[in-house]
Amino acid sequence: MADVLVVAEAAEGKLKKTTHSAVTFARQAATALGGTYSILVIGSGLDAAAAEAASLGAAKVLVAQDASLETYLAERYAPTVAEVAKSRGFAVVVGAASGYGKDLLPRVAARLDAGYASDITGVITEGGSLRYRRPMFAGNAFGLVSVSTPIQVVSVRQSAFAAADASGAQTAVEAVAVTQPGAAAGRVEFVSFDQVKSSRPELAEAKVVVSGGRALKEKFNQVIDPLADVLGAAVGASRAACDAGYAPGDLQVGQTGKIVAPQLYIAIGISGAIQHLAGMKGSKVIVAINKDADAPIFQVADYGLVADLFAAVPELTKQIQSA
Ligand code: FAD
Repeated sequence: MADVLVVAEAAEGKLKKTTHSAVTFARQAATALGGTYSILVIGSGLDAAAAEAASLGAAKVLVAQDASLETYLAERYAPTVAEVAKSRGFAVVVGAASGYGKDLLPRVAARLDAGYASDITGVITEGGSLRYRRPMFAGNAFGLVSVSTPIQVVSVRQSAFAAADASGAQTAVEAVAVTQPGAAAGRVEFVSFDQVKSSRPELAEAKVVVSGGRALKEKFNQVIDPLADVLGAAVGASRAACDAGYAPGDLQVGQTGKIVAPQLYIAIGISGAIQHLAGMKGSKVIVAINKDADAPIFQVADYGLVADLFAAVPELTKQIQSA
């Protein structure tokens, strides 16, 4: 029997949706291993996040709260996560492959001397142990990975695991001690956090994404924003659009940007390079607008419009507005 520990990600008192995807993985892994899963919520001011975690059907909800954890620093969080995993005998530690998970989990793995399977998109059981499916070469190949260390650390690609629903039963919440970090934490200081405030949904969690490419040039916002607004969508961009300064870097979708899988992804003036597709081809419905009928984006698009975007997108926005 082996148990799974989900490392929750909380922000502004709420669990991030990424945590719900990690819980879905944990349910599958715990069932395969004949064990249970628990959720660790770490930070400060966590009462609401802990209550939300308690609705997700875990065997235990563990809460590590301390004023020193008010602002996130991997060097301060990792010792507590590793200590909870070790002292309570968890076999698998899992979080989402979000910025938070990518920063925190490798440090947890190092502290536990554990093998780390990152950004997995599936899990199978073979001979009583877990094997993880990982995309490689920008999603052009998949590898099956097994980890041979006694404790395994895993990060899951959010778009590959549906968000777990509340289970009905409420789990009791248990406080756990915060492990004081060693000297390494003293060398890192929290300076400031400049949050970009936006009324739009977060790119990685949005149901609809309107994404623009290099073709938009300086008119990126003028063309993309009104369509995103009428659809209540998040805005994304290709790397070429970000590199050229037409869109901020945190909007980049793709292999070296964010991975998204919304219900609807609208690619405007984006050619469809494999590195871009790696970040959005899991979207449920893909719409492409491009003036080049041979653009590779049309090979993955469910609906394609061969047109000049500067005429087509404002017209589309107008039609949706008046519908
Ligand atoms: P382009 O390829 O220049 O395409 C512009 C498109 O707009 C064309 O198809 C053109 O037909 C169309 N167009 C032009 N004018 C109009 C018009 N008036 N109306 C309609 N259509 C028009 N890219 C990413 O996006 N994300 C990544 O994470 C990423 N990671 C990378 C990692 C590595 C290691 C490397 C090497 C590359 C990476 N890239 C990434 C870059 C990628 O290879 C492409 O260069 C990039 O995606 C191209 O962006 P684009 O489609 O906006 O631009």
